[in-house]
Amino acid sequence: NAERRILIAGNWKMNGLGADGGELAGALAARMKAAPQPFEMLVCPPFTLLSRVGETLSGSAILLGGQDCHAQVSGAHTGDISAAMLKDAGCAAVIVGHSERRTDHGESDAQVKAKAEAAHGAGLMAVICIGETEQERDRGQTLDVNARQVAGSLPDGATAANTVVAYEPVWAIGTGRTPSADEVQEVHAFIRAEIAKKLGADIAGGMRILYGGSMKPGNARELLGLADVDGGLIGGASLKSEDFWAIGESC
Ligand code: PEP
Repeated sequence: NAERRILIAGNWKMNGLGADGGELAGALAARMKAAPQPFEMLVCPPFTLLSRVGETLSGSAILLGGQDCHAQVSGAHTGDISAAMLKDAGCAAVIVGHSERRTDHGESDAQVKAKAEAAHGAGLMAVICIGETEQERDRGQTLDVNARQVAGSLPDGATAANTVVAYEPVWAIGTGRTPSADEVQEVHAFIRAEIAKKLGADIAGGMRILYGGSMKPGNARELLGLADVDGGLIGGASLKSEDFWAIGESC
């Protein structure tokens, strides 16, 4: 879809020390500077590497993002980072509601929505993650779960410019397993219809829906070629510049 530019987003999770992170970002920046690309690229390192990676990426058109933010702007929240702080550190975007946050930190749809609102308030694009667990899929609840998460996690003020949705079946994250291409397309089309119910057809038609879960160079072409897949959120394969770049080049 010409309206929706493919977004290739890397989630480094809790990986990367200074030298490795700088090298990885440097390799991506060099490739992006060498020639303009049809896809947009976003790199989300851990908080400790934001400034270093941001400096390395500067002038390359690759966007910098955080992996989480607090719903408040500032205050007594030891260990947390606000959206305004991410913006101040050079970020253009932030991932919210990743399944590892929902599981490790018990984040609810309401909290994810509040974080997305905070991101918008700070001028950041929110990458809002949703997706069913294996048990939910086995019980035939995939569409219900994703409908509930769209309804509960997206702010009313979400637009195609300030929000990206990432469909990440929890059972496909870091496992090497993925749904079939037909299953991915079915869920993406369903999610877009649910976004349309909530925000209207115009916004839904322009909003990017990324697929996440064991995307790698070997399956990226098929997944990124699907009608309602507008990019990828990539964990493991974003830690090697050749693999991450190859995913971008397969769109
Ligand atoms: C993720 O962390 O969002 C993810 C999709 O991980 P992986 O690509 O490793 O499955």
